[in-house]
Amino acid sequence: MERIFSMLRSFVDDSEKTKFCVACGNKATQEALFAVGDGAILIEKYCDTCATNVQRR
Ligand SMILES: [Zn+2]
Repeated sequence: MERIFSMLRSFVDDSEKTKFCVACGNKATQEALFAVGDGAILIEKYCDTCATNVQRR
């Protein structure tokens, strides 16, 4: 399924669970939104470094 990078935003960690970057496993600080068709949005968590890479894709 094709996904198109939409935007990047900092996410607020409002729970006690630490979220991890889906790419490298470090602590996630940002989330990337992708449009995946039919108006659906996919959200993946990333650390700062990987978030930068995602933006360039
Ligand atoms: Zn990462």
